[in-house]
Amino acid sequence: MPAANYLESLNPEQRRAVEHGVVAKDGGRPGMPLLVIAGAGSGKTNTLAHRVAHLIVSGADPQRILLMTFSRRAAAEMTKRVERIARKVLGDNAGVMTDALHWAGTFHGIGARLLRDYSDQIGLDPAFTIHDRDDSADLMNLIRHELGFSKTASRFPTKGTCLAIYSRCVNAETPIEQVLGASFPWCAGWAAELKQLFAAYVEAKQKQNVLDYDDLLLYWAQTMGDPGLAREIGGRFDHVLVDEYQDTNRLQSSILLGLKPDGRGLTVVGDDAQSIYSFRAATVRNILDFPGQFSPPAALITLDRNYRSTQTILAAANGVIDLARERFTKNLWTDRTSGIKPQLVTVRDEADQARCIVERVLENRESGTLLKQQAALFRTSSHSAPLELELVRRNIPFVKFGGLKFLDAAHIKDMLALLRFVENPRDRVAGFRLMQLIPGVGPASAQKVLDDMAGSADPLAALASSPAPRRAGDDWAKFIAAIADIGRSGWPADIERARLWYEPHLDRIHEDAETRRADLIQLEQIAGGYPSRERFLTELTLDPPDATSDQSGVPLLDEDYLILSTIHSAKGQEWKSVFVLNVVDGCMPSDLGTGTSAELEEERRLLYVAMTRAKDDLHLMVPQRFFTHGQSAQGDRHVYASRTRFIPDRLLHLFEKANWPRAAAGTPARAASSGPRIDVGARMRGMWR
Ligand code: ATP
Ligand code: MG
Repeated sequence: MPAANYLESLNPEQRRAVEHGVVAKDGGRPGMPLLVIAGAGSGKTNTLAHRVAHLIVSGADPQRILLMTFSRRAAAEMTKRVERIARKVLGDNAGVMTDALHWAGTFHGIGARLLRDYSDQIGLDPAFTIHDRDDSADLMNLIRHELGFSKTASRFPTKGTCLAIYSRCVNAETPIEQVLGASFPWCAGWAAELKQLFAAYVEAKQKQNVLDYDDLLLYWAQTMGDPGLAREIGGRFDHVLVDEYQDTNRLQSSILLGLKPDGRGLTVVGDDAQSIYSFRAATVRNILDFPGQFSPPAALITLDRNYRSTQTILAAANGVIDLARERFTKNLWTDRTSGIKPQLVTVRDEADQARCIVERVLENRESGTLLKQQAALFRTSSHSAPLELELVRRNIPFVKFGGLKFLDAAHIKDMLALLRFVENPRDRVAGFRLMQLIPGVGPASAQKVLDDMAGSADPLAALASSPAPRRAGDDWAKFIAAIADIGRSGWPADIERARLWYEPHLDRIHEDAETRRADLIQLEQIAGGYPSRERFLTELTLDPPDATSDQSGVPLLDEDYLILSTIHSAKGQEWKSVFVLNVVDGCMPSDLGTGTSAELEEERRLLYVAMTRAKDDLHLMVPQRFFTHGQSAQGDRHVYASRTRFIPDRLLHLFEKANWPRAAAGTPARAASSGPRIDVGARMRGMWR
């Protein structure tokens, strides 16, 4: 075996995790199951990357390694790291080896690929399309109307609530009565109707050959229920490795068990203190119960040294999480000493919060910290609005993770609906959206055509022969011709044909058609990076590109930009300098989160996740007033806020208290205005379109 100097940077526990069960030159042989459980920044992800590299260097076949992470971005980052490490040993051959690491992705993305591979064996049409959460809500809504539930006298749950209940039942593998009782008590009276709705929803998806996000896991888990298929699929992989295991749900753990019933070759890593997805039915029990699922039990390795943050940041984060009711991981230590404590900055309101952050971000840049090495984190996407406004005003580029997406723009959704409809003409939500773009076609006539199509064995033929809606005119014939034409063109020429059909509609519908047209060109460029229409649609739906301040839609990776992210999307990442917005009661914890103590604990972990993203300096912002967006019973309004309850007085010694602006309270913060210099509102509208 080559000199193992690539393992020298690891500490003894990390090294044990990397080498666990790996036999030199025989890395392909799966060893006993392993759980690495450790706090933030202790090198879990780094250890996992080293383990994959070590497996490959020791002879494992990269094509038989399945690596599942939280996002596609994380998977890409991990693949790069593996290659970097392997290159130290294998030299230029490393690229060849890690290119073959093509089973790296999210649970959902991998699920979609496997389901297409095995579609004929599970009675699924391989041309299935995937609904994102909006599409799923739209379909739920269609059925709600069809069943007449939207017209009942007392209020039936909204489409979003229906979808949330459905999703919870599926992901937690829990009966509806129990889900309603525990999480949606105000809907408990509707159990019978909801069951009927969900049955119709499932039937509709099947008829239309669409899968929603939950189906990707559900179908996969069901497939693993067949012993023959489970053996076959599990047999494709010698090693299965999962990062961020604390945020998986029961379906995901049953999939893993199906893949590797005896646990051989299975490695999972996670941190119970960072479990923040229970609202999607993730359960921390997965990680706690992991060792005992196997006989003999899985090996357990804990890491307690933090390499990310300075001592003062770590002390404050540990202080916050120490107050949690229940914890498995131990406190971390670091030798990164530093005198600067995390700052608790009191500001007057969210506008001042934005100005303060921008001022400090620019100061940091002056002293050599790139914008990219700084991040502003928030509880909910809408909380960053004032900051975005300030950044646009000051011409500071930024990228926003986990918020509004490029794909949420109406024109992009139209284009994707068109491609999806061509891919799968039974996709009713796509068809419904599309047909109504045509002048003279309303919901009723679209429904009628879609009904004709649904009743036919050949939906495209039915579409062509279905009588044109009365007021549609020529545009209807053009639509039918375009669908056939796009279907015939190969990938990626079809996306250009799709645009040509769509552009006249774009011009008619939108005032700012010109900027939107640029987005469509951009979409074509993105499409160029995918091997097929099917992969393009699948991967874009599952993990869309992030929104950016740049008009062109997707981040230009060689440029410098500030990171804006929800805390949920910041998982696993780190920045030199981190600003956490609205660290106040009513936001962290949110009004919604104070319901049960379990929810409250999750909010505490959320703050812990946010704080532990920082390497060198951390600012927790405490506006005295903030704007709630329909979170409270009173709807949108300004509320007076106080510091989060997760930082009680007895933890204050861990922080540096500051006020901004530094002037004494009560003096006006801003210089007298000489009138607006730019029309910020227009720029903001341009940004999200
Ligand atoms: P999180 O819980 O936030 O996902 P993590 O446990 O996955 O964190 P990593 O992201 O893997 O932690 O590592 C945190 C930082 O520590 C990274 O910058 C990584 O490069 C560094 N690091 C990890 N292990 C070592 C080591 N042995 N020596 C030096 N630096 C290390
Ligand atoms: Mg990690």
